[in-house]
Amino acid sequence: QKFELHDLQEIIEELSPIIDSQAHLHNVVYQTFIEPAPLTVLCSKDHIKQVILNLTKNALEAMPLGGVLTVSLSKENDVCKLEISDTGQGIPEEALSKIFTPFFTMKNTGTGLGLVVCQRIIHMHKGKIEVKSKINEGTVVTIFLPINKE
Ligand code: ADP
Ligand code: MG
Repeated sequence: QKFELHDLQEIIEELSPIIDSQAHLHNVVYQTFIEPAPLTVLCSKDHIKQVILNLTKNALEAMPLGGVLTVSLSKENDVCKLEISDTGQGIPEEALSKIFTPFFTMKNTGTGLGLVVCQRIIHMHKGKIEVKSKINEGTVVTIFLPINKE
């Protein structure tokens, strides 16, 4: 994979039509909140896209009766914060510590590899990934990536 400077806004804008059409099929409203200033990150674009699509897929799968999927991008000091949140079923407390374990899945046809791959990619970018969830309220996945200061 090639690491290059990319604006995260642009990556989200490129993915938004795909995410929006998937959301429609799930009766989900898709919305974005994007920091107006460019957020340039040294990254492998395709890998970051894979992370976002894995996370939005999980979010949609957690909302079988519809809901709201939000992707937001903001800046905190020298770190860029990308958040994917849903109003879905949430993750049971006892499962939260296992979701980054390879092959852990609570789905009939899940692989249990989506989050493992996301974490691996984010670590490869010297970033962090965190998951907060409340049963019957929803889940927020937060990704922190270092901003390129050149
Ligand atoms: P898979 O989607 O194949 O099950 P993942 O690694 O993507 O594997 O996710 C692991 C598990 O974490 C899922 O089976 C699900 O139980 C839980 N999970 C992940 N994201 C969410 C979410 N947004 N809402 C509810 N549960 C989630
Ligand atoms: Mg998944």
